[in-house]
Amino acid sequence: MSYYKIAILPGDGIGPEVIKEAVLILEEVAKHFHHTFEMKYGLIGGVAVDKTGTPLPTETVELCKNSDAILLGAVGGPKWDQELSHRRPEAGLLGIRKTLNLYANLRPVTLFDALLHTSPLKSENVIGTDVLIVRELTGGIYFGTPRERKNGENGQEAIDTLRYSEKEIERILRQGFQIAQGRKKKLTSVDKANVLESSRLWREVADRLSYDYPDVKLEHMLVDNVAMQLIRNPRQFDVIVTENMFGDILSDEASMLTGSLGMLPSASLSDTGPGLYEPIHGSAPDIAGKDKANPLATILSVAMLLRHSLRLENEADSIENAVKKTLEAGYRTGDIGFDWERVLTTTQMGTMVRSYL
Ligand code: ATP
Ligand code: MG
Repeated sequence: MSYYKIAILPGDGIGPEVIKEAVLILEEVAKHFHHTFEMKYGLIGGVAVDKTGTPLPTETVELCKNSDAILLGAVGGPKWDQELSHRRPEAGLLGIRKTLNLYANLRPVTLFDALLHTSPLKSENVIGTDVLIVRELTGGIYFGTPRERKNGENGQEAIDTLRYSEKEIERILRQGFQIAQGRKKKLTSVDKANVLESSRLWREVADRLSYDYPDVKLEHMLVDNVAMQLIRNPRQFDVIVTENMFGDILSDEASMLTGSLGMLPSASLSDTGPGLYEPIHGSAPDIAGKDKANPLATILSVAMLLRHSLRLENEADSIENAVKKTLEAGYRTGDIGFDWERVLTTTQMGTMVRSYL
């Protein structure tokens, strides 16, 4: 019997609809495993702009800081497109990531066997795909300075800077090693060491750290090769760890192996504070309020929350198994059931997963 505090930030669009099902799953897990999850709700995004004038109210930041983990739906929508940049719903999400120093972004790409037909590859090669991408989220070319424009001999020049410190590289690589220890113990460190100095430092740090994790098999791979291998044979990967921009591109590429945005969860972690868990999809204004959204990405985000922030491995497994069984039994929402005869609503899908839990 344990006690945990979880901040719930439903946000906008389909956010509240998928969060509702995820919360019911948390309540079911609490009941079965005899835990107490104290869930407190906070405002973020467009709904926070409407009610308080800012996308990230101080109360929300305080609530998150005082929680063991954070579960978020989605933010944004056409209603707020004209807002000033500091009042845009997305500023709420960037703000919370920065405030909590969430430097490690985890995106599992799991293709459930029952959903082989949703993968654009529809090939034997993707059966059993189960990759976890660990992307550095607060450094690299996104934040390096100088970043500027100036006039040169051949017209304007634009400058971006790719900068990483040893410390930044080390902490993200450690996340990669530790996560690999809990999985198949293979870590692919992705860089462009044949061209970039930052990648050469990255590789040195990875080799040095590998002595601390002798049970993990470390391999280095160039980013262009990884882009190719993800399509050719995604099953060769267990955990992939990489810097910010490579991770951005590779995680979008890999996510499409499964065919639906509605299936993919994510986690963003720091060293000390609470982790933040959310589906990778956005607020999907086109289907908001229609009870049509696929809640599985958010339900699978709950499994990640239990595993990574609360260290409740069995509880996380039980959710993932329930999702697997639901899909094997043929239950589908619209995004994954194109030619299915009976497509479930958000609410029905959530109920079905709970029945298998
Ligand atoms: P954002 O800018 O917030 O990322 P977006 O415009 O990129 O939003 P998403 O909300 O990510 O769009 O989704 C794109 C489309 O995918 C949606 O319009 C919707 O049709 C579909 N979609 C996204 N999430 C789901 C879901 N959970 N269930 C079903 N369909 C979804
Ligand atoms: Mg988007």
